[in-house]
Amino acid sequence: MKSEFQPSQEQPERNENDECPLCGAHISEPHYPDCARSPQDAAEYEMPSDSPERLALEGRVQAALGHVSTSALIRRMETAEDFGYDDEEVELSRRLREQGKTWRWSEDFFNSKVVIEGGEG
Ligand SMILES: [Zn+2]
Repeated sequence: MKSEFQPSQEQPERNENDECPLCGAHISEPHYPDCARSPQDAAEYEMPSDSPERLALEGRVQAALGHVSTSALIRRMETAEDFGYDDEEVELSRRLREQGKTWRWSEDFFNSKVVIEGGEG
């Protein structure tokens, strides 16, 4: 027994394809930096937008969320449990970047809203 991690029934460490159910990384690969199981401190780690890892992440997220409208993405982020919106955040950032825009959380900590910045109007 060398694993210190005790996977729960609901959240196995690896799925039947030996991939992380949270980030999709194969067992032979490290978790994505934004994965809850990654040793990285996700809050302090930001992948450069042109890094292969970031592009792979964005591609995976786009495949999953590409059909979701931007307003629905934002609503999901605003109503998600803590840190339950990682994928939505990635997809929103990617879409806005294509428009030369960014987003941030409003400063009302108890009723945080996504604020879009940049671009026209
Ligand atoms: Zn993972």
